[in-house]
Amino acid sequence: LTAPGGRSSIRRVLALPVADDRPIALAGLTRAALKELAEARLPRGAGLHRKVQRQVFEEGRFEPESLGASEVVTTAWRRAFSLELPATGVVINETDATGDTAKATLRLADGAEVEMVLLPMGRDRRTLCISSQVGCKMGCTFCETGRMGLIRHLRADEIVSQLLVARFQLGWDFRNLVFMGMGEALDNFEQVIRALHVITDASGLSMAQERITVCTVGNVEGINRLAEQRFKRLNLSVSLNAANDALRSELMPVNRRTPLAELQQALIAYRPRRNFALGVNYCLLPGLNDQREHARQIAEFCAPLERVMVNLIPFNPGTAPITRAPTEEEAERFVEWLREEGLPVRRRVTKGRSVMAACGQLGNVELRSQLRKSSAPRPAGPSRSE
Ligand code: SF4
Repeated sequence: LTAPGGRSSIRRVLALPVADDRPIALAGLTRAALKELAEARLPRGAGLHRKVQRQVFEEGRFEPESLGASEVVTTAWRRAFSLELPATGVVINETDATGDTAKATLRLADGAEVEMVLLPMGRDRRTLCISSQVGCKMGCTFCETGRMGLIRHLRADEIVSQLLVARFQLGWDFRNLVFMGMGEALDNFEQVIRALHVITDASGLSMAQERITVCTVGNVEGINRLAEQRFKRLNLSVSLNAANDALRSELMPVNRRTPLAELQQALIAYRPRRNFALGVNYCLLPGLNDQREHARQIAEFCAPLERVMVNLIPFNPGTAPITRAPTEEEAERFVEWLREEGLPVRRRVTKGRSVMAACGQLGNVELRSQLRKSSAPRPAGPSRSE
């Protein structure tokens, strides 16, 4: 083994973290963070950080041996950093006139599973829907994930890894990204923000903020904290689903803690840019929230919010549905009522229902009971986030 500077240098090069010597997960690092860590941990090997970062985010691999450095340096890099992408489990596809919908199950290092979905959005555009938590504690009654409860938060690198698996292992081509898979993104605030920094890092995945949407159930503290971040072009959408407190509290337990007036105030205050339009997601539940009166209540809720775009999502029954899917006529009628109220509306075409990849259908209730039986998964895998 040779290294510039002789044996003492070799010792320095190999002098890796003492307190916690698990490798640091590269998928959770911006280029600036990687440079800083590489300089701190690998005084003679830091020069590789650009090449390593390009390998990770442009090719989805980490093979320092192929980067022309000495064996000592590459060994040091391998001891200090790692790229452990989740294993892809089941991948299911559904094809219809609008394109291909695909759902993939990803198994994390500790055995926990999350799901991500590729959705066609017309004109060859695809959106990747990713998870921020394993399960979710919000307990929305219409949602399959809500039935799992929260198993654990995802680390930033595990969130970013979903994009790497989608792009480099599954060959999924996507233009937009939504945090609308498993979990309430703002309930895992720190890790989601870290992931956003990596995803938007100009020298990494370099996704434009305007192509990313964070979706929240109405986590007011999270919305307020997000307003303090420098994501001026990021999109935000809120799952409304009912615009009167009695019904919303019944459908979404979060409303018992944070009633609509409080949520509305937080949304009024959330104006990251002048032309910001809030996404208002409304899952249409026949017999529960699909009356003329409900359309009027949505308009009242949205009135002080300046610009909004209502996304109407027909309910997708899961394994224990609270109602049926709306008919085409019911969905169209509700869209008309919203338009009569002066609201801009986009009707989400139902995609992926047959493969349980549609909104509200992600979740693996069986996994939860399995994990309970075999003790809960560790919150961090073999590598760690820095
Ligand atoms: S809808 Fe979203 S916030 Fe509600 S339980 Fe499902 S994953 Fe959680």
